[in-house]
Amino acid sequence: MNENKPAGPPEPAVEPTAAASPSNFIRDIILDDQKTGKFQGRVHTRFPPEPNGYLHIGHAKSICLNFGLAKEFAGKTNLRFDDTNPEKEETEYVESIKDTVRWLGFDWEDRLFYASDYFDQLYEWAVQMIQEGKAYVCDLSAEEVRQYRGTLTEPGKASPYRDRSTGENLELFERMRAGEFPDGSRTLRAKIDMASKNLNLRDPVMYRILHAEHHRTGGKWCIYPMYDFAHGQSDSIEGITHSICTLEFEDHRPLYDWYIEALGIYHPQQIEFDRLNLTYTLLSKRKLLQLVQENRVRGWDDPRMPTLSGIRRRGYTPEAIRNFCSSIGVSKTNGILELGLLEHFVREDLNRRALRVMAVLRPLKVVIDNYPDGQVEEMEAVNNPEDASAGTRKVPFSKVLYIEQEDFREDPPKQYFRLSPGKEVRFRYAYFVKCTHAVKDEHGNVTEIHCTYDPATKGGNAPDGRKVKSTIHWVSAQHAVDAEVRLYETLFRTADPGKVAEGGDFTDNLNPSSLEVLTGCKLEPSLANAKAGDKYQFERLGYFCADPDSSPGKPVFNRTVALRDTWAKIEKREKDGK
Ligand code: ATP
Ligand code: MG
Repeated sequence: MNENKPAGPPEPAVEPTAAASPSNFIRDIILDDQKTGKFQGRVHTRFPPEPNGYLHIGHAKSICLNFGLAKEFAGKTNLRFDDTNPEKEETEYVESIKDTVRWLGFDWEDRLFYASDYFDQLYEWAVQMIQEGKAYVCDLSAEEVRQYRGTLTEPGKASPYRDRSTGENLELFERMRAGEFPDGSRTLRAKIDMASKNLNLRDPVMYRILHAEHHRTGGKWCIYPMYDFAHGQSDSIEGITHSICTLEFEDHRPLYDWYIEALGIYHPQQIEFDRLNLTYTLLSKRKLLQLVQENRVRGWDDPRMPTLSGIRRRGYTPEAIRNFCSSIGVSKTNGILELGLLEHFVREDLNRRALRVMAVLRPLKVVIDNYPDGQVEEMEAVNNPEDASAGTRKVPFSKVLYIEQEDFREDPPKQYFRLSPGKEVRFRYAYFVKCTHAVKDEHGNVTEIHCTYDPATKGGNAPDGRKVKSTIHWVSAQHAVDAEVRLYETLFRTADPGKVAEGGDFTDNLNPSSLEVLTGCKLEPSLANAKAGDKYQFERLGYFCADPDSSPGKPVFNRTVALRDTWAKIEKREKDGK
């Protein structure tokens, strides 16, 4: 599985299915390559995460693009861990990344690779470059290398070690590998052009000395290749055709091409596209790691995190994420998309699949005075109006119920059509119910309300044709399941959380009310044994997903997304400066 794979035999080109997703410039390049016979019609992509954190929604864009294009053209996609930096990488991240790619619905089959699989080959190639006068050992410190590099307006200065003899270079590089020198004391550099307009071509570092244990190669190496010296060659070894990456690598492409040409090996084509950015969201593993380390969130899979493990726990579905990624397309300029757009796709998907249930988050007790004591009726409720095959269920109705506190007002404003003294509403799937009076505690707070019901309205309609203006949800008190429900707002309160005042930190932009935990919520009994990951629409409230913290009889739910756009509200509050 981990052997160096040459570019496999050419595979037949296939006509792409025109109806798939909207075209984009990368797809157009592939279509063009198919016409001209470049890569013999093969499409072989790769997703190359560095295992230094959990994947986030930005990575989903790259995953969907790489696996999606390969699938469309009957090609292949490799999963390759770019593990050239031993200090920040961990096996935990490798496992979570594999799990997440699978969850998103993609399969790398037997093509799981690691850049570290190629360390021996890369070392040989470095030696080859020294022998051909294309690389040299440099004794400048990292700081000096920076100083010598010059700027965008000034050319760089040659290192005093640039003209070492091949023999000396070979000997020093071998001794670097043998561990004779301390970290940072020497590097191997490519001999390109210190006056190049592209700073990446000013004798870039190929290898650095780092006495560090690697998660896979252990203590075998104390020199490690730089990303640029590893990435293109890894693509080449694996026979990748289109090496798709984000725009910040555009300036690295000349170097990518230079190494491949200098080594005379198979040449994949690098193509850059725009990074996904979302409002109210940070997509940087380094910053997400900081949030985890500083306990600003409950871990990488905190449902407020933009990590795929976080939004999965929150209840986002892989289908919703894939639909979102396919709708946003790719371009050559970075921008920021509205978080509301992602939420739109989540709602759209959950609307199709989530079962409707009744749950009361902030309960107010209701006593139906004319309902027989001890009587329980099983009301027939529709599981999913979008999906007839989901069927119906029975929900118990009895004399004492809970409704939402906000569905009752003692002094209702004009447009308030829910319960208030003297007003009648429909209790979903049950009866017309009219409020008679409220009971209060010594502080004047309403503790319960009393009502009457009209037995002739069973099922929700009055034989005399009278109408009510609203329908509210309820849960029978004696049958209710107590639950904890976690409500989320955006993790950051500013639309561009990367923007910080001088001397500040992005954590200053954290939203202090991003998490609200409600306990004593009342759920209909069918939810008693909800399993982690089960998704529902709590009628009138939003979509909710059972959290792994649930235990039998004690469910914990995350609000995935509210029913309507909370978006507008958040923006308004922002504007009002509240
Ligand atoms: P971060 O900046 O979050 O650390 P990264 O680019 O360092 O991300 P990698 O593990 O190197 O993360 O990324 C793997 C692949 O995912 C790369 O091809 C990278 O270009 C792509 N990718 C990372 N972030 C985004 C994003 N926001 N939008 C689209 N693609 C992304
Ligand atoms: Mg990176």
